Amino acid sequence: MSPAEAAERVVALTAELNEYNYQYYVLANPSISDYDFDQKLKELENLERLFPQFLDPDSPTQKVGGDITQRFTTVRHRWPMLSLSNTYSEQELRDFDVRVRKAIGDDFEYVCELKFDGLSISLTYENGLLKQAVTRGDGVQGDDVTTNVRTIKKIPNRLRTNGYPDLFEIRGEIFMHRPAFQRLNNERIENGEMAYANPRNFAAGTIKLQDSSEVARRPLDCFLYFLYSDNRNRLFSNHWESLMAVKSWGFHVCEHTALCSSIDEVLAFITKWDKERHELSYDIDGIVIKVNDYGQQEELGFTAKSPRWAISYKYKAEQVETIFHSVSYQVGRTGAVTPVANLEPVLLAGTTVKRASLHNANEIARLDLREGDTVFVEKGGEIIPKVMGVNMLKRNPDTHPIVYPSNCPECDTPLIRKEGEAVHYCPNEEGCPPQIVGRMQHFIGRKAMDIEGMGDETIETFYRHGLLHNITDIYKLKDQQDVLIGLDRFGQKSIDNMLTGIEKSKEKPFEKVLFALGIRYVGETVARKLAAHFKDIDTLTAASRTAIESVHEIGERIAESVLEYFANTTHREQLEQLKQYGLQLALVEQKVERLGDRLQGKTFVISGVFEQFSREELTALIEGHGGKMLSSISAKLDYLVAGDKMGPSKRTKAEKLNIPIISDQDLLDMIA
Ligand code: AMP
Ligand code: ZN
Repeated sequence: MSPAEAAERVVALTAELNEYNYQYYVLANPSISDYDFDQKLKELENLERLFPQFLDPDSPTQKVGGDITQRFTTVRHRWPMLSLSNTYSEQELRDFDVRVRKAIGDDFEYVCELKFDGLSISLTYENGLLKQAVTRGDGVQGDDVTTNVRTIKKIPNRLRTNGYPDLFEIRGEIFMHRPAFQRLNNERIENGEMAYANPRNFAAGTIKLQDSSEVARRPLDCFLYFLYSDNRNRLFSNHWESLMAVKSWGFHVCEHTALCSSIDEVLAFITKWDKERHELSYDIDGIVIKVNDYGQQEELGFTAKSPRWAISYKYKAEQVETIFHSVSYQVGRTGAVTPVANLEPVLLAGTTVKRASLHNANEIARLDLREGDTVFVEKGGEIIPKVMGVNMLKRNPDTHPIVYPSNCPECDTPLIRKEGEAVHYCPNEEGCPPQIVGRMQHFIGRKAMDIEGMGDETIETFYRHGLLHNITDIYKLKDQQDVLIGLDRFGQKSIDNMLTGIEKSKEKPFEKVLFALGIRYVGETVARKLAAHFKDIDTLTAASRTAIESVHEIGERIAESVLEYFANTTHREQLEQLKQYGLQLALVEQKVERLGDRLQGKTFVISGVFEQFSREELTALIEGHGGKMLSSISAKLDYLVAGDKMGPSKRTKAEKLNIPIISDQDLLDMIA
């Protein structure tokens, strides 16, 4: 390669890698596989070695990667958070072993750990209390996300045993288990919110939320794998011992960790987990191999970017090549259009794959996808496989880029794109069949009205026969029994069963009805909050933007969507009808379950987030024991129950009025 060619390639690779880094760290939405990324990075490293004149100090090869965001305070790491050198090949791993032997001789052990696919976090503990949690950032400094991390139940806020140093730092990986990811992601899709591509992005997005109570709602976990403190070497002689100790202090340490005395044992561990990783409830992307002994680690030392005593072996994401036939465009309940690739069926990670997600028009353009292309399909943590790229060597030159439809594939209405969103929408809410059917299916769903004897197919069939056009029609079915009995596959018994189910749904509480309406961004939790705050549909319909936004944790985006929904006269007419049919459009004051009277006559205000309880649970506990909730802090107040992240103004006010500030534990002690 001539220097001119090299210069050109270096510039191209740098631009490309910077873009991927941006997608990965800032958007938390990478468009390239780790493997391909690492290959490109290695190519750049090689070129820079051969042509050092082109090495830019800002080159992506000189960075650990950065995810610092403006919204959090930036904190400097006491010990820099380095990256690990990594490899995909057995040979390179053996080379690593040879290098280690050259430096420290033959008498040493390796610790093998799973390489968790989450986001790394550094936790500082002082006298057994969690003081600070910081993201990796660029390795030198990261974001202070302490308040969010405090809500993670698997990370102790207070250590229970003794024997830990007064001041130490512990590092680990925050992640989300796959089943929780799938459940919450499906909820998001149902609510018309952006879905996350994989558990890692979900975990990373969660840690960067401004709202800690939302973080608390999402079950995150954390495995710890590095201990740092000034007196570490006096307490332990090696990494393995420190892992056992931190486990006894109350930290979550992964049980699948092994001590190996040779590189062959390490390779056996790698092979074993390449198969068994699919059975774990969380994603791993490789194995981390660390020299065990602290003294030997020090002898080996560090390069500018990573320790010489550790390396990560990365598994290749399972990828196959297959033929891409065409795109199908699916229209969802909210009108969002999702392009799906139809593929020549191919075996991938144990299942036959026929379809893969393409996300949106930008993604299709980025891939420059053409019918008949040979594509790479990959399955990582994602539920649906993803098209990663096109094999250009196999491209037929006579093909043309895919033209994204300008009109709805279902109802031919011109599609729109909301500002700042990549997704196309069909705005024809009232006339687009999949939207009409989807809304009714959502209405009868298990988490909504939960109508027994009625399923997604029933809705579709009835819609096709002109029996159902909108949710109110469901309550008119009982007057159409003669038509129903004439339909195929509907016996008298199933009709009776269904009508009973419909009748029973009229008892569903207001919050369920509100959720069932399918207002965009109004999921179960938001519906519950709106119902509790506004108490009935008329008050909610009449509520101003300020009133809606004043509800705890309800922001602009949700308020906008709620206002838009109720401004629509069709929706208001439908609600009027539902009211006449006898649905619960107001909160029925819940009778408080009586648990005791220890708090009789006492008044309480709850503020902040709690590790063990939701606010609703605490309220139930207080009222159940005869206590009374007040809405604000005043001289009449007896106790302020304070959790994490309580506003400083509340604290000041309570202190000024001499009102005792108690913890949730103090409250439990009062009623014990
Ligand atoms: P890389 O990002 O490929 O340089 O790999 C280094 C990252 O792997 C660290 O910053 C950690 O976030 C992550 N990691 C996951 N599991 C482990 C583990 N068991 N030990 C050390 N690092 C780990
Ligand atoms: Zn349409």
